[in-house]
Amino acid sequence: MFGNYINGEWISSGATFEDRNPATGEAVGTFVKGTAADMDAAAAAASAAFPGWSTTSGPARGNILYKAADIMDKNFESIAGDMTREEGKTLPESKGEVRRAINIFRYFAGEGSRLPGMLVPSERDRVHMFALRKPIGVVGLITPWNFPSAIPAWKLAPALICGNTAILKPASAAPLSAWRIVEALHQAGIPKGVVNFVAGSGGELGAALVNAGPLKAISFTGSCEIGGWLHAEASKRRLRIQLEMGGKNPTIVLADADFSSAVENVVNAAFFSTGQKCTATSRAIVEDAIYDRFVAAVVERTRKLKVGDGMQPGIDIGPCVDGPQMETVLRYIEIGRRECGEPACGGRRLTEGALGKGYFVEPTVFAGVTEAHTIAREEIFGPVLAILRASDFEDAMRMANAIPFGLSSSIQTTNLSRAFDFIYRAEAGLLTVNLPSAGVEYQLPFGGTKDSSFGPKEQGPAALEFYSDYKTVYLKY
Ligand code: NAP
Repeated sequence: MFGNYINGEWISSGATFEDRNPATGEAVGTFVKGTAADMDAAAAAASAAFPGWSTTSGPARGNILYKAADIMDKNFESIAGDMTREEGKTLPESKGEVRRAINIFRYFAGEGSRLPGMLVPSERDRVHMFALRKPIGVVGLITPWNFPSAIPAWKLAPALICGNTAILKPASAAPLSAWRIVEALHQAGIPKGVVNFVAGSGGELGAALVNAGPLKAISFTGSCEIGGWLHAEASKRRLRIQLEMGGKNPTIVLADADFSSAVENVVNAAFFSTGQKCTATSRAIVEDAIYDRFVAAVVERTRKLKVGDGMQPGIDIGPCVDGPQMETVLRYIEIGRRECGEPACGGRRLTEGALGKGYFVEPTVFAGVTEAHTIAREEIFGPVLAILRASDFEDAMRMANAIPFGLSSSIQTTNLSRAFDFIYRAEAGLLTVNLPSAGVEYQLPFGGTKDSSFGPKEQGPAALEFYSDYKTVYLKY
């Protein structure tokens, strides 16, 4: 039984829900289903802990984060295994993500010894003026299932190092990875009430969180629909808000690209993690001169991908995270069939043998897709790639930008001038050149533009801007 964590105590009573393995259907863990009353208790605990934590020195806060990172490192293998069993991504992918969560904790632990303010010369004689960075108070963190360790880490670590106290509400489809981070913080000796963890239904807990009296800010990663609702609710109370939401990310492939690495990058970005990355490529926009050859090569490479239980060696792609997500993917594949014809490969649920127990979908490639087609416009969040034809670079650039989303965007080209044109004109917050559109690091700002995001960026030094405020001082001496 995995309890909620409120005011430094594990609460193991109350109704429960099951965290299930999407590859096998087996139970991974039973979680206590938090209530609105639990959320209120967590907010009260976080509020009571704020005066102490916010006045603890930055380096001392950092030491607790370092310790938590060391504990996660010690349990590295088991945390990664838990992630694969609850979310479905392959074990190497889970290991990469847990490593990233640990690195994020260490990165922000070090920030505790810096927490840069500002010091500038005054226009006036004998006036010393500077701005201190100060925490904002109790922050609510709502996270999705697709990066169940990295996203809680990249919200919790900067929130805590700045001196805020936090309430984490993880996704119901994969709460264990986040629970393991909170367990590490508990074992590292974080003072009671500084971190609180309440799992359970997003609808009930989200409403309780956004209305909790002491709350000062919400950071949310998830769908545009829920983000939009939260934004409206948070605005009524003038809460600070940060939203990271959906995408429909393009990769432009120009005729001058290194062909085989372009194929590899598109297949990697479209299908690894089962296409369930917010930065995944769901539209490849390919220059006419190489279109047919590129489609053939992507199909050939995609057919070689091995789909199965991510705990098994040699598997490239795990299952969709749960039944509803798989149904969404299959529904979009049917829409694609109706609008664009039979996929060039894939297009089926896989049910042979042990696969029948899970939510496996073949990696699917649709060729001949145009901008008018639904699968070129709406986020699917699964292993489905639409390949569009562009007459030239300008046409490709126009198509890449002609959507409401703006999370990541990629180009494959050996032409330096085109690469820079792309960098300056692409309407997205995360750009890659000759790399997959997915696969970001934590040391630089992360986030999108347009309908994909709202508010200050996450990660890197930029994360401090959301989780802290300035106090400006003028001193005459
Ligand atoms: P989701 O359904 O919006 O859920 C995200 C989180 O919000 C979960 O913890 C969920 O709880 C909670 N929630 C549900 N209803 C809520 C409500 N009324 N108020 C407050 N919270 C509520 O999204 P998802 O299906 O987990 O994740 C997939 C989406 O996330 C995709 O659109 C993807 O693009 C996006 N995403 C974006 C980024 C990025 O950085 N831009 C990164 C990863 C994912 P329950 O689980 O209990 O429903």
